[in-house]
Amino acid sequence: MPQITNHMPTAELQALDAAYHMHPFSTGDQLAQKGARVITRANGVTLTDSDGNQILDAMAGLWCVNIGYGREELAEVAARQMRELPYYNTFFQTTHVPAIALSRRLAELAPGDLNHVFYAGSGSEANDTNIRMVRTYWAQKGKPEKHIIISRKNAYHGSTMGGASLGGMTPMHEQGGLPIPGIHHIDQPHWWAEGGDMSPEEFGLQRAQALEKAILELGEDKVAAFIAEPVQGAGGVIVPPETYWPEIQRICDKYEILLIADEVICGFGRTGQWFGSQTMGIRPHIMTIAKGLSSGYAPIGGSIVCDEVAEVINACEFNHGYTYSGHPVAAAVALENLRILDEEKIVETCGAETAPYLKQKWETLADHPLVGEARIVGMMGSIALTPDKASRAKFAADPGTVGFVCRERCFANNLVMRHVGDRMIISPPLVISKDEIDILIERAWKSLDECHAKIKEDGLMVAAS
Ligand SMILES: *Cc1c(COP(=O)(O)O)cnc(C)c1O
Repeated sequence: MPQITNHMPTAELQALDAAYHMHPFSTGDQLAQKGARVITRANGVTLTDSDGNQILDAMAGLWCVNIGYGREELAEVAARQMRELPYYNTFFQTTHVPAIALSRRLAELAPGDLNHVFYAGSGSEANDTNIRMVRTYWAQKGKPEKHIIISRKNAYHGSTMGGASLGGMTPMHEQGGLPIPGIHHIDQPHWWAEGGDMSPEEFGLQRAQALEKAILELGEDKVAAFIAEPVQGAGGVIVPPETYWPEIQRICDKYEILLIADEVICGFGRTGQWFGSQTMGIRPHIMTIAKGLSSGYAPIGGSIVCDEVAEVINACEFNHGYTYSGHPVAAAVALENLRILDEEKIVETCGAETAPYLKQKWETLADHPLVGEARIVGMMGSIALTPDKASRAKFAADPGTVGFVCRERCFANNLVMRHVGDRMIISPPLVISKDEIDILIERAWKSLDECHAKIKEDGLMVAAS
């Protein structure tokens, strides 16, 4: 067998991929027929594929490459750490410098008294940790019956049994016997799709009060925690109305419910501040982190835990952990990533300059005949595709049909923009420049034009009745 390299013809790589590689969230057979896109290298915000196309990655990989691709410093730190100490565990009363240093840095960066870090290999694993941690917390306090975790429909909290159970994605629950017991889902604050005749403010309040209703129905003494993304990401970049989070905070305080902010996307500058909790003005007891923590250069996630919860957990033996909890190479890479985000003022510049610039440009897309609303917080944005803006109508075609057409047009125009149903979403590297933002918007507009033309031709520009 010849060695597989970047120099092989694309079709050969695709055939090998189809023969041996199973893809996440894909229909394998369909993908095999079409051939997966092969990405060979990347720099800054730009991907190169095996045919030499230069593609603007407006998704930062999977929402994670916050500092952009191609940073030598991270490669160097990883190589150095691999030589010095490639692996050691943090079980059984041992530790190492990368885990110590990263933990202290995260405690400095995280708001309030979020001062303690439990590591995982990913966001999903960290949320599995959170399930066990909040239940153990209440059990240690003599309230083992306080075990239910309230989450939201259309939330994304990962793909493990625990993570996907916390998540509110119906197609995920349909496979593998989910959700696990003790998880309760309430409605999401998605005004565009579900707000009806209410104002966004009224609707935000109503959807927050759904939490109070659920607590009262389930029993205050049964509910351990509420988990939510400050801004829903994979659900379609759904920015909650301004009334939503203050009311959620009031309810969590009133009923002594632990608040878990899933910061896997929102953390590390994505919303224009270090954490989405700061942008949304909330005070979580636990934050889930991953993705931007290492800008995707190494797999690492974790939970940043407040003093009170850490104190209770530390008082018992917490029978939980992963072989790669606090992996030294991943921790060293994450620490270097945080240094760059801070010292190069990437979060600051994004919050003060590039994100406002992107917002102004992104919102012009709402003038496109196919676009109903354009929402954005920091560097995460979405647009709703609609056949009729005035009534916020859905398409008559199956959900996602039009979104898929639009995504295909984006690909053809060398822009990675994802679709969630009929919403198009972006989450570019935080280092994207104003010139690159202009290119992003230009390609998005062109793709929308082409999508619009195509769906008119196919008779899809029709509202659901
Ligand atoms: C991606 C994501 C996760 C899961 O992280 P993985 O590293 O893919 O396991 C959890 N929560 C949110 C909000 C995410 O976006």
